Formats: sequence, structure tokens, C-alpha cells
Amino acid sequence: MILNDLEPLLRLLGRLPGLGPRSARRLALELIQNKEALMRPLAQSLLDTADAVRECSACGNLDTEDPCRICLSPSRLGEDGRAVLCVVETVSDLWALERSGSFKGRYHVLGGTLSALDGRGPDQLRVGSLLERVRRGEAREVVLALSATVDGQTTAHYLAERLRELGAEVSAVAQGVPVGGSLEYLDDGTLLAAMNARRSV
Ligand SMILES: [Zn+2]
Repeated sequence: MILNDLEPLLRLLGRLPGLGPRSARRLALELIQNKEALMRPLAQSLLDTADAVRECSACGNLDTEDPCRICLSPSRLGEDGRAVLCVVETVSDLWALERSGSFKGRYHVLGGTLSALDGRGPDQLRVGSLLERVRRGEAREVVLALSATVDGQTTAHYLAERLRELGAEVSAVAQGVPVGGSLEYLDDGTLLAAMNARRSV
């Protein structure tokens, strides 16, 4: 039975977000039936991407270069040579902000939120390097763009305190981020409004 042979592929596909066993089977069939047009190019593209992608050692963004092109771009700095630094949870949030065009500064990708429940403390996130960037005087202002979840807001509160200790000006994205909401699901207009209406914290 070919389904047995497909087991490794189905298991891998089933690990992708949003895919259960059933959609994994459908996907596998679609790929197999479009072997030359879809399956081989996809496999090649996956290999190429895996080889090319790097994590930016400065901000945690993903790019083919390290430091990433956002960190390297002088147009992301203010006239004083310092940047507004936007703190996001994930690269996916960074992409959402870039797509919306609402932000022209630099980023810092935390890699998640603090979570007592999941045992995630500051050491499991990119908190140390954030504080270090601020200590070095890289940031004119730090904008916290975290989810409106309990963990997101706990993290924002913790970071605001630590950042203020360093004398940083700290703000948070405001209205428009629905309670319980994650940044990446906001439409561009809402994201733009949230960024523009950031308030000091
Ligand atoms: Zn970067």
C-alpha cells in the first residue's frame, strides 16, 4: 500500500501549522499528481531556502544576509544616527509591519513572550541583546509591539521597566490591537493606526 510508503512525507507535512493528517494526505496527493510542475520545484526551493536563510545576529530577523538588510539600511536611522526600535514577538510580526509600511525604523525580534506556564523566562528570549542595544545607544525610542494577550502584556510591562532603567524612551502600540490578538493577523490599516497611536508606557 503506497500510503505506507508515504508515511514519512505525511508525517512531515502534518507537522506544518494548520495541517492535520487529512489535509496532509490531500497535499501529498496534489504534489504527487503534479510531480514536475510542483513537487520537484518545491523540493528544490525548500533546499535553496534552507541553505540561504540566516538569522540576523543583531535583531533576529530572517534574511539571506547577516546582519539583515533592515539592520544594514541607513535609511532606517533617524538624523541623529539612532533608530526607533520596534520590539516584536516573531519574524511573522515583523513581516506584517513591513507589509503595512507603517514602520520605518529597526526591529528586535524577541522570539516569543515571557510565560510562567511554559517556563519561558528572559533568558529564553532575546532580552539580553535588546537591553545591550539600548545600552549602546542604538535606540532613540523603543516601541513595544506585542500581542494583547496576558503573556504579551506581561512581557511588555517587564521590558518597559527594564528599558526605562536604562533611560530609554518606551512606547507601546495602542488602539486597534484587539484583546487576545496577535499582530500578524491585523490588517494593514489597523496596524498602521496602532503604530501611529502608540503611547508612552
Ligand atoms: Zn537585523
